[in-house]
Amino acid sequence: MSLSRTALLWVSQNQTLRQTLPKYKFIRRAVSKFMPGEELDDALNAAEQLKAQAVNTIVTHLGENIAEEAEAKRVAEHYCDTLKQISERTIDTYVSVKLTQLGLDLSEQLCMNTLSRIVGDAKLYGNMVWIDIEQSQYVDRTLAVFKNIKQSYSNVGICLQSYLYRTENDLKELLPLSPAIRLVKGAYKEPATLAFPRKVDNDANYFKLSKIMLENVRTNGVYAGIATHDTILHKRIIEEADRLQLEKTDFEFQMLYGINMEEQLRLAREGYKVRDLISYGTFWFPWYVRRLAERPANVWFVVKNMFNFRI
Ligand SMILES: Cc1cc2nc3c(=O)[nH]c(=O)nc-3n(C[C@H](O)[C@H](O)[C@H](O)COP(=O)(O)OP(=O)(O)OC[C@H]3O[C@@H](n4cnc5c(N)ncnc54)[C@H](O)[C@@H]3O)c2cc1C
Repeated sequence: MSLSRTALLWVSQNQTLRQTLPKYKFIRRAVSKFMPGEELDDALNAAEQLKAQAVNTIVTHLGENIAEEAEAKRVAEHYCDTLKQISERTIDTYVSVKLTQLGLDLSEQLCMNTLSRIVGDAKLYGNMVWIDIEQSQYVDRTLAVFKNIKQSYSNVGICLQSYLYRTENDLKELLPLSPAIRLVKGAYKEPATLAFPRKVDNDANYFKLSKIMLENVRTNGVYAGIATHDTILHKRIIEEADRLQLEKTDFEFQMLYGINMEEQLRLAREGYKVRDLISYGTFWFPWYVRRLAERPANVWFVVKNMFNFRI
């Protein structure tokens, strides 16, 4: 892991910086590259614009590690209202949640109850809920919650990270459940004992795991969410899908709002399914710094905004 990535991931977890840095206007301006706005309405308006370009969406209300039970209730209410608004606007937009935002740090039962409420409402609206995956200490509990809720609901998907050595086993264990899986490279700071430290190995594992997912689309009913902006991987995965004689619509590319938009629109124009994940909310600092860590060159964008702000 590069020094700049390590430093940025440290910043994303530092409590003091989390409180002070978001107050600076130049940082708020820079974040707008990745986020259409802080309000749900901003996210849904962006979803409508993307829909017009054949790109569907997922929305997520930024937040993690809640500390009080009442907060989990507020998060559930927010997502239930979001699902209602999505249905009223007739957009093809799913929601994505973090389990620590639903109370996983407080108790697995609280988290399960909160998630069930959201997934239950999503089912009524014919919608789907994706579960994000967080730091490695949450992976066992996240998988347990997913397996549990999957027994009652089919409209739920889970994210897996290719940087973790364990993920190949996790994926193979999930296959018999006909799961919806969003495969990502992984955004957190993890030790070399748990995760590939070298990008080249993570990329190779990403391809290996996406191959397994594609091979199981027909046989095990896997919903394969290929969540990367890596155009080399896109090309290799498309070649693999062709080799398996899959249709363009048998799997889905998922990307983040504001990143490689040209590639998102190109794939959509070529007839592939593309889903763009739009984040909104006021708690954007740790999430934003993880985006900077993915591409430390983005820090120059922040510096440029600081300069613009001062003149
Ligand atoms: C839909 C979706 C959901 C996600 N959910 C999770 C999750 O639940 N848990 C989790 O740990 N991670 C999640 N991630 C983040 C993921 O783990 C990676 O950190 C992120 O996608 C960057 O890796 P990459 O696959 O794009 O590949 P990289 O090799 O990092 O990037 C490939 C190329 O994409 C472009 N790019 C990538 N990131 C950026 C950026 N921030 N700014 C500008 N350009 C960029 C660059 O051109 C780069 O060369 C999610 C990502 C997506 C797309």
